[in-house]
Amino acid sequence: MTWALWLAVLCCLLPVGITAGGAIHRRVLERFLRYAALDTASDSAARTLPTSEGQRRFADLLVGELRGLGLSDARLAAQGYVYATLPATPGHEGTALPVLGFICHLDTVPLLGSGPIRPIVHPAYAGGDLVLPGDPTQVLSPREHPRLRDKIGSDIVTSDGRTILGADDKAGIAEVLTAIELLRERGIPHGPVAIAFTPDEETGRGMEGFDVAGWGASYAFTVDGEEVGELNDETFNAASATVVFTGHNCHPGSAKGVMVNALYAAARFLSDLPPRQRPEAVDGRVGYQHPHTVTGEEEEARIKLILRDFSLTGLRQRQRLVRELAARTARRFPGVRATVTIEEGYRNMKPVIARHPFLIAAAEEAMRRVGLTPIRRPIRGGTDGAVLSYKGIPCPNLFCGCENPHSRTEWIAVDDMVKAVETIVELIRVWPEHVRGARRRRPEACAPRPAAPSSALSILTGAPSQEEGPPEVPRSGRRRVAATARPQPPKSLRKGATARSRPRR
Ligand SMILES: [Zn+2]
Repeated sequence: MTWALWLAVLCCLLPVGITAGGAIHRRVLERFLRYAALDTASDSAARTLPTSEGQRRFADLLVGELRGLGLSDARLAAQGYVYATLPATPGHEGTALPVLGFICHLDTVPLLGSGPIRPIVHPAYAGGDLVLPGDPTQVLSPREHPRLRDKIGSDIVTSDGRTILGADDKAGIAEVLTAIELLRERGIPHGPVAIAFTPDEETGRGMEGFDVAGWGASYAFTVDGEEVGELNDETFNAASATVVFTGHNCHPGSAKGVMVNALYAAARFLSDLPPRQRPEAVDGRVGYQHPHTVTGEEEEARIKLILRDFSLTGLRQRQRLVRELAARTARRFPGVRATVTIEEGYRNMKPVIARHPFLIAAAEEAMRRVGLTPIRRPIRGGTDGAVLSYKGIPCPNLFCGCENPHSRTEWIAVDDMVKAVETIVELIRVWPEHVRGARRRRPEACAPRPAAPSSALSILTGAPSQEEGPPEVPRSGRRRVAATARPQPPKSLRKGATARSRPRR
């Protein structure tokens, strides 16, 4: 064997960052800057999908880039979804290996200020405040963002302060494409990999038109988390509630003994909500009820709330609290009627992910191979992956490195983007070994199974959970989802300012 060949083999075996760190930095940054400058804000008022033309243009651009990387089946599907497959390298073809997928979203929240987005690279961060030149009142400071202190020496990217940056989730897209490029260039052996870029995650409609059966992945990761090393396998359970107080209106001049003003009941209801269960009063694993919209007049007052809890029992208790408080309030105000409507939202993906422990083990090993210490952390909100997990594709969330998203001081360290690229490459590389390991542990369970686990269905329908079921073993090959087994997509995956408390997305 020649030295050149030895070197090539060695490059295939070593973690990619050791042999290609500088190249990754340049490529992922170049991609990200191009994508960030595009306006792909989604529009929650629009009825179409995607909800903005900018997303469709971006999707078109990405189809071209995926094809340029050799993913010849890359396509722009109806409603703005991009799907593509990276075929397996020789030795990993066929149907033996479950297809691993990666998902990022095309849209951003509204730009906040006046566009266009002008991404700025602050080279080799030296510490201290970064004043954003387009609006000097926007200052990125380590006092407010302590993780900046860990980024000394890294290039930092921000907007110019007049808009968001949109690293959520264009950093993820740039990272996935750069990982594919590296896999191909360096001849790293891998199984089939499915890619999906989805519209309208920020409006909560990202999974509305997703082709679960046609995409082809058996398991997936969204690349949409924040801090470097973060791995999310748990989300909130979500519900929304509308409380309507109905009174009786008349001319105030002759109102004595006649008028029943629903506004007072609404005010009392709001003030009686437990202050210690407000989103601004809790963090960690504690949920909340959060009134976000009040409309009304004497005749009728309407209050909209969102309810969030990591446990389904906790969510049910919050629903009960809203119902009982509304009824009690109505009793305090003779003549007032109260009605409460509850709408179920997304579900905590933890019970689904817990049945596939090799998924988390593979991601954690990938991180360790690139020198990261994995940080398992629940998301105080929902993800498209949570919805997808209940549609039959278990889907935890990997970090992309974005920080303080949905704000004009959003930022990202290029070093963290490099780590995300390396983690994706390593995850794809260790995937076959982890699948085989899971199958060795439970060889009898290798047969394909229905797409949606029974525990998932029972949780969606509110039946007792069967979270204690045995771990599942990777299914073989490309899967197809039985239409009858697929639960309906949750309607109210709302993020933005409410569903995910800041500084989480
Ligand atoms: Zn995101």
